Amino acid sequence: MSKFLVYSEDLDSELELVSAVAKTCGDSAQVSAALLGSGEQKNNAATLSVTGVASIFQVQSDSLKDFPPETVTDALEQISQDYRPDFVLIGATKKGKEVAPRIAVRLKMGCITDAMAPRFEDGHALADRVVWGGNAISTVVSKTGAVVTIGQRAFEKATGNSQPELKSITLSPKTRTSKAVGKKPKASGEVNIKDADAIVSAGRGFKKKEDLALLDDLAKILNAMIGASRPLTSDLGWMPESRQVGLSGTTVKPKLYIAVGISGQIQHLTGMRDSKVIVAINNDKNAPIFQECDYGVVGDLYQVVPALAKALKSKTGR
Ligand SMILES: Cc1cc2nc3c(=O)[nH]c(=O)nc-3n(C[C@H](O)[C@H](O)[C@H](O)COP(=O)(O)OP(=O)(O)OC[C@H]3O[C@@H](n4cnc5c(N)ncnc54)[C@H](O)[C@@H]3O)c2cc1C
Repeated sequence: MSKFLVYSEDLDSELELVSAVAKTCGDSAQVSAALLGSGEQKNNAATLSVTGVASIFQVQSDSLKDFPPETVTDALEQISQDYRPDFVLIGATKKGKEVAPRIAVRLKMGCITDAMAPRFEDGHALADRVVWGGNAISTVVSKTGAVVTIGQRAFEKATGNSQPELKSITLSPKTRTSKAVGKKPKASGEVNIKDADAIVSAGRGFKKKEDLALLDDLAKILNAMIGASRPLTSDLGWMPESRQVGLSGTTVKPKLYIAVGISGQIQHLTGMRDSKVIVAINNDKNAPIFQECDYGVVGDLYQVVPALAKALKSKTGR
């Protein structure tokens, strides 16, 4: 039976990792969750006590405040010395991606980052990864056990109840070679589209920034957040990058995703193709987005969007 250690500083992500093990290995795996932090952990331990979690390794230390990757690595190494996992799954948050290669070196394991469709067979990890700027998918196989990072929302959060064994570990941190010298709040206008239930996204089909106001009515009626393709964020600066969906933006999985004037290049699709219902509005019937959507409207967004908003308004009264 393979032994898995799961960890993320984001508990939702950690619960998704528990689910990733259940989905890929069924009952033939043993799962321990790492719970690290500087403060009281009782509630977090309860949150992690879901079906499938056999034990929780708890490390509480002031030096884990803000989860510095070097110290988190020390903590995971100490846990691993005790637990001896075959695989370490880490949430692919920014911090998780810093921790993963560090702990892989310490444990002398392979490291697969941003793993899609991870599989664990005969002591090896296999996963698909987007490479060459999103133009190809490679399948990577580790020679031995591995540290694997998995994107947020790739799996549903694990649920249910369990009574995992709680083990406390006293941290003996190694000397840190880096330190944080300051913190800057995010610029105003930044949003978090990751957890939105509905997203209406704008693409290069919009001719000017002012036209984006066309989406306001639709978003309001659907209680949706507004997202964007990369040209509108990084290239034109019409919206903050926090609204960008895709390979170099945020991966989203809403119940409803409406792509307006978005062609459907692989780098955009990578970030939204797991949405439950995808609607595309595009005036080019050959646009690749129509291969991915559940409902497609071939038409000029400047006519379709107001007409759709009007129709929904009269139906919902919102
Ligand atoms: C390493 C790398 C990372 C990247 N990361 C991302 C990423 O995270 N997210 C992302 O989105 N892109 C990303 N890209 C860019 C990506 O390759 C595409 O260039 C981008 O997704 C295209 O955006 P778009 O569909 O809005 O624009 P376009 O491809 O220009 O498409 C515009 C669409 O609008 C339609 N249209 C035009 N006028 C109208 C109208 N009046 N009504 C209706 N439809 C209309 C057109 O038919 C066309 O299909 C990345 C690229 C690279 C190389």
